[in-house]
Amino acid sequence: MMNLVQQNDRSKQKYGPGRNFVIWAVRLGWPFIKFGKILSNVPLIKWLIYPFFMRPYNEISSIPLNIEVPNPESVVLPRRVVQRLLTAVDDIFIFDECICRRHNNVSVPPQTIGCMALGPAGSRIHPSHGKMATIEEAFRHVDRAAEAGLVANFAHVWIDPVAFHTRFHDLMFICYCDDKNCLYRTYMKNRGPSLKGAYQRLPGLLVVVDPDKCEGCGTCKEQCFLADISLVGGKAVIGRSCAGCGRCVEICPNKAIALKIKNEEALFEDLVQWIKGVSHLPIKSVQKGSLP
Ligand code: SF4
Ligand code: SF4
Ligand code: SF4
Repeated sequence: MMNLVQQNDRSKQKYGPGRNFVIWAVRLGWPFIKFGKILSNVPLIKWLIYPFFMRPYNEISSIPLNIEVPNPESVVLPRRVVQRLLTAVDDIFIFDECICRRHNNVSVPPQTIGCMALGPAGSRIHPSHGKMATIEEAFRHVDRAAEAGLVANFAHVWIDPVAFHTRFHDLMFICYCDDKNCLYRTYMKNRGPSLKGAYQRLPGLLVVVDPDKCEGCGTCKEQCFLADISLVGGKAVIGRSCAGCGRCVEICPNKAIALKIKNEEALFEDLVQWIKGVSHLPIKSVQKGSLP
């Protein structure tokens, strides 16, 4: 009975804009965001664009999905933390397509691995974008994203509630992004004051270089999307604005960079605290080991 009432309520609710509207909005807005980021460090101009990227309207945190953390547990722990978060929220909307990869017309990574919207506001997203998902569907989506080598970005940025007509604090996104197409992750080098700090590393997630293994080839320096790796005395040094995305860990030919996590509990708690700090997303308590 309760379900019928809820379904009835949902069928009556007003949705935000449909897929075609958002595709056009992205097409028109893409150059502005791209050049806004590129110009975000140019004197004078940077203060004009500051409001569009300033905190707290532009907050992103990352979890690499497919990096094994050898100690203290031998599982792909970051991925499990993402899945644990999914069991702790009631509403998950999965987008049928990645708007950025669609915009760039690439097929690898697949366009069909879209973002996830979390929270009650997800039910206001127009059904032409995708659908409300079961927890099993959400888990499969995370697995597909990990297999495609994507990074999970937790995003709470003003553009999403504007695009989907939801309240700012009621919606969070987990986006499954690559380095070449994602509007969040690209054009981030030499960014200005409003973009510095938008990407926040979860405190319990550390990226460390083993100087004995590092040969100073510079591959990680070139590939870090935040340009925050330097070579000092022929060894890579991770900068303070590292977002913990894990790309340099995957890319180093000598396996000289490692991701370190204190434990699953601490990382999950970091993530929950980060989400509570930027949104009003209701999160249930989920015990370790209780995943379906
Ligand atoms: S933010 Fe990431 S997952 Fe979302 S549309 Fe862009 S690349 Fe795709
Ligand atoms: S990619 Fe690896 S070996 Fe090359 S500079 Fe970076 S840490 Fe050192
Ligand atoms: S230093 Fe490595 S983990 Fe940190 S942001 Fe750059 S690529 Fe990602």
